[in-house]
Amino acid sequence: MISIRALTFRYPTGEFRLNMPEFDVAKSEKVAVIGPSGSGKTTLLNLVAGILTPLSGSIEVGGTGVHALGDTERRDYRITTIGFVFQDFELLDYLDVMDNILLPYRITGALELGSDVRARALDLASEMGISGLVSRHPTELSQGEKQRAAICRALLPRPKLILADEATGNLDPVNKGHILDLLFQSVDHHDATLLAVTHDHELLDRFDRVADFHDFHVWEAP
Ligand code: ADP
Ligand code: MG
Repeated sequence: MISIRALTFRYPTGEFRLNMPEFDVAKSEKVAVIGPSGSGKTTLLNLVAGILTPLSGSIEVGGTGVHALGDTERRDYRITTIGFVFQDFELLDYLDVMDNILLPYRITGALELGSDVRARALDLASEMGISGLVSRHPTELSQGEKQRAAICRALLPRPKLILADEATGNLDPVNKGHILDLLFQSVDHHDATLLAVTHDHELLDRFDRVADFHDFHVWEAP
């Protein structure tokens, strides 16, 4: 599902350098990404999502060369293929929770917003235990509730690849397990693939595989 070759990346400013010779994730695999803070985990997810562009090398996702997409294609790719649970959620405060969950459908012609989608959004919200909160705004939610809303938004378009950046980070242990159950269920149900950054080492044995950022060579600054 993901095939990365000879990837190099750096931000326009700062010393950070990422050099990833080879990284693969099979279809339907659930892979946990671990590594110290600042090692590039979020950067990797952004590269796979097409939010950042590599300096050199290739990133293929489901046969699409993400590194070579133009702006419009990249946007459509992101919205139709990727479900992204951001580390800081990226919910829009001026929209209520339901409209946040429906957001992917509002910002692209590549997805069609019908009554079936609204019904599924409500189903997801109740699976996540936030069906009573859908008319609230994100400012009126706890961190854990925001996280659940962000997960609903990521899952709604039934993405082939789910990228989760510490999706269980702000939750208590019982909810952590529950959210992971829901993520895994959704991944299995839609035959999707999961790449999840996590700091919760007690959850690691639930994944198929762990990718440790210690194994990726980070360039020395020249
Ligand atoms: P992690 O998610 O593993 O904590 P990140 O991928 O967020 O790490 O960041 C990797 C490194 O890149 C850090 O040193 C961080 O300071 C740096 N970095 C992140 N975003 C930017 C940016 N927009 N510009 C410059 N440096 C950045
Ligand atoms: Mg991060």
